[in-house]
Amino acid sequence: MLIYLKALGCRLNEAELETWAQSFQKQGHQISPQLNQANIIIINSCAVTQEAARKSRQLIRRLHHQNPTAKLVVSGCYATLNESEVAQLIGVDLVVSNQDKSQLVEKTLSELDFQTMPVMSTEAGEHSLFTRGRQRAFIKVQDGCRYRCTFCIVTVARGEEISRPITAIIDEINHLHQQGINEVILTGVHLGGYGTEINLDLSTLIRHILQQTTIPRIRLGSLEPWDLPTDFFSLFENPRLMPHLHLPLQSGCDSVLKRMARRCKTQEFAAIVEKARQQIADFNITTDIIVGFPGETEDEWQQSFDFIKKIGFGDLHIFSYSHRAGTKAATLSDPIRKQVKKQRSKQLHELALSMKQKFIETQLNKESLVLWETPQEDLETGKRLSFGYTPNYLRVAGESHLENSLSLVTLATRTKNYILTGEA
Ligand code: SF4
Repeated sequence: MLIYLKALGCRLNEAELETWAQSFQKQGHQISPQLNQANIIIINSCAVTQEAARKSRQLIRRLHHQNPTAKLVVSGCYATLNESEVAQLIGVDLVVSNQDKSQLVEKTLSELDFQTMPVMSTEAGEHSLFTRGRQRAFIKVQDGCRYRCTFCIVTVARGEEISRPITAIIDEINHLHQQGINEVILTGVHLGGYGTEINLDLSTLIRHILQQTTIPRIRLGSLEPWDLPTDFFSLFENPRLMPHLHLPLQSGCDSVLKRMARRCKTQEFAAIVEKARQQIADFNITTDIIVGFPGETEDEWQQSFDFIKKIGFGDLHIFSYSHRAGTKAATLSDPIRKQVKKQRSKQLHELALSMKQKFIETQLNKESLVLWETPQEDLETGKRLSFGYTPNYLRVAGESHLENSLSLVTLATRTKNYILTGEA
């Protein structure tokens, strides 16, 4: 999707555009400087004077006139103070008030139904899962996948599995560490299958990395919940291996999983989660879910919803099923109506927020090592703050100026945006 962003008014409005731009990009969309090529237009309006309100109104009309096919989203002070008036303006598809600004990207994608499936179930997800930065880098350890999940185009696009040799991976990590990177994320299309064709496995790779590097943090990217070596979870006893896994479940109903040709049924998934949580305190499990897979009945949806709730994830990435030519799923009958997908997606987003909130609350008053990133403007307060992540990948805001360093903080409170505040 191509996104065109425009702000009127104060510096904070401009700063918010930058944050939204990054967030759209993380979800795989592109920012377009060309208005006429955009699929979505976002306007951050202003109402500081009558003149500013008039200009905001004019801008909405002008941009819609110049690209009438793009979806138009309006936020900012003018839109907040005149919500119903703005919603009635010709061409406006969505109004996001200032109170909801921090969720503008999610709201735009879900309410305008742009939340489509990633191209591959795993690799593409890394970019919405983790942010790259001066402190963090991705290390690709393998490519390809031997499975044939029916919604996934990966086998067509990527072919057979190929793993990089351990020495090459270690050299790359050591080189990045020397250059100031403090956290690496191991990624692969089927990361759990690492080494199969060269007589190795993922545990062996991680063990070598722990022994032959001194990089403070090692994370795993999205990992299919099968093919995990038997000693896998004991590796997390080393505090340099971060206790967070993104295990794509895709559906919490076995008959849907079967139609998806997934290799992990709900019972097996629950057993993996239990093992992780038993072995390591505060282990964070996040997942991907596809809603509205062809033929997903009301009963199957309910089973899926109940299972997701029972597991209790730290976060969910929710995708409405979208037809992708070349996949087996594209040939399945009984597509789910758009309205039903939208309603299921909304229900799941609500559950995701409450589960995330619940998990964050279990972390309050605990001490945690945070790796701080470059300070930036906080959307809620307008203050310049540092942000960073705990080992189990919870975002923390603090007044630390220790850019690209680790420090021990107490996780004090939770903000509206589901961010913890850390106090040294
Ligand atoms: S396991 Fe399935 S979803 Fe994952 S990459 Fe392979 S075919 Fe795609």
